[in-house]
Amino acid sequence: MKLLVMGPPGAGKGSQARKLIRDFNLEHISTGDMFRQSAERGEELGKKAMEYINDGNLVSDEITNRIVKKKLFEEGANTCFLLDGYPRTVTQAHALDDMLQEMGSKLTAVINIVVDKEVILERMVGRRVCRDCGYTYHTHFKPPKEEGVCDKCGGELYQRPDDKLESVRNRLRIYEEKTRPIIDYYKGRGVLVNINGMQSFEAVYRDIRKALRDLT
Ligand code: ADP
Ligand code: AMP
Repeated sequence: MKLLVMGPPGAGKGSQARKLIRDFNLEHISTGDMFRQSAERGEELGKKAMEYINDGNLVSDEITNRIVKKKLFEEGANTCFLLDGYPRTVTQAHALDDMLQEMGSKLTAVINIVVDKEVILERMVGRRVCRDCGYTYHTHFKPPKEEGVCDKCGGELYQRPDDKLESVRNRLRIYEEKTRPIIDYYKGRGVLVNINGMQSFEAVYRDIRKALRDLT
């Protein structure tokens, strides 16, 4: 299975991706995680990317396509994967098509998580992430047992700089302008599935599983 999970920032892509990769044994390819991890390793690419990320802007198509292509070709055509946060522009969607064609592969489904703007803002400003294992919490909807401490590994929870209100507003504007048009790009191909993301974590996951069953 080769999946793509789409949706505005804060829609719940990462939260749902975590369950999907576990249940279907998929390689999780999150471009946001790749940039953050590269920055933590002190690499030039990551440090440069963070300048864009912290203000809520997109990293260039050229850099983003390059890291995804490297990863996909390292994994090979037989690897089942879930792309999370990529593509984010129509140019990236074309590049992904070229990569998959070159590998003799294609997408099984594009899952589009639909969430209203008000819900997004609430989710993003409350998001907290573990510095050590990357597990995601929410101050109201998914609080850790002990404030500021990861249930999974005991690591410190922090607020991503791009989850501050000003960055979030910029990210939403960019989503509307650059990313939303991709939905139409995939609509005509019979692989797009719209999922109501304004439900509990469990209900969203149940709907995704049902949609995948119907498709395959
Ligand atoms: P994305 O990967 O799309 O940016 P996340 O999965 O990180 O989104 O979710 C954003 C925030 O919203 C997180 O704090 C997460 O815990 C919370 N969240 C995600 N899905 C739901 C849901 N169905 N109900 C309530 N909160 C949610
Ligand atoms: P995410 O972790 O998916 O919320 O991504 C965090 C940030 O990383 C985004 O706001 C962008 O700045 C950058 N980023 C992630 N994926 C992409 C992409 N496909 N294209 C450009 N920038 C990206």
